[in-house]
Amino acid sequence: MKCFSIFLVLFLATSVCLGSGLPPLEKEGTLVPTKLIYLSDTYQNIHEGTLIELGSDTKGNYVILDETIFYPQGGGQASDKGEIRIGSQILAIEHVLCRDGRVLHFTKSPIEELSPGAPVAMTIDMDLRLLNSSTHTAGHLLDGCVHSRFPALEAFRTEHFLHSMYVEFRGELASLGIRESTFRETVSSALVKAISESHEVRVTEVDWETFSGLFPALSDGIKRPSYRLIEIDSFSPIPCGGTHLRNLSELRLVELTKIVSKKGTTRVSYKVH
Ligand SMILES: [Zn+2]
Repeated sequence: MKCFSIFLVLFLATSVCLGSGLPPLEKEGTLVPTKLIYLSDTYQNIHEGTLIELGSDTKGNYVILDETIFYPQGGGQASDKGEIRIGSQILAIEHVLCRDGRVLHFTKSPIEELSPGAPVAMTIDMDLRLLNSSTHTAGHLLDGCVHSRFPALEAFRTEHFLHSMYVEFRGELASLGIRESTFRETVSSALVKAISESHEVRVTEVDWETFSGLFPALSDGIKRPSYRLIEIDSFSPIPCGGTHLRNLSELRLVELTKIVSKKGTTRVSYKVH
């Protein structure tokens, strides 16, 4: 059975922000989580909401909204950037993080004059969103292409940053009797084939019973309202809270760059064109 530890990291890292897209639950004495609009539409670049809280910490000034289209960094995917307009003031958003289910939008702009309850208008940098979504989708595709052709290789770590894209697998090519040239050729062909077949990147929501049946190792005992799964082609479904392209046809080419196979693992770096 496929090892999902790669996505365990992503899933648990983002699980408090991996909402169902449903309105946040109001509970006495707890912080209301931010509604994550980006989960339902990768391509939505503008949205309106309400300012909930202002603050600052070692990373700078931040604002918290009732809902957001900004993806907070996590699971190997970089955060979005963009702008938040509040009245006549425009905050340049440089970095976004999730803490305890709430999304913090960091800015170098002054926030002292702002007041909670004010309406806000958000705009994300769509070119950056699509780049991040491309590298993230390509990572899933690479994992599926490798594991479907070489089932002994199981992904356990990944990064989809623009400066560092790789999927790392448990298993070493030499000890599995796989020549690197064969691996590169086989996986490259599989990537080209999958992209040329224009497979849809499907997003589904399942309940806890279904999820824990599919991924017993990921069930941490906390029943969330729903679990988000990503499916590509006939590859195994993956729990994931990131942003993805709608269809593989939006990727032109995923190119394998560096393959390092040693000490029981194989790291496959890639580039997206
Ligand atoms: Zn994903």
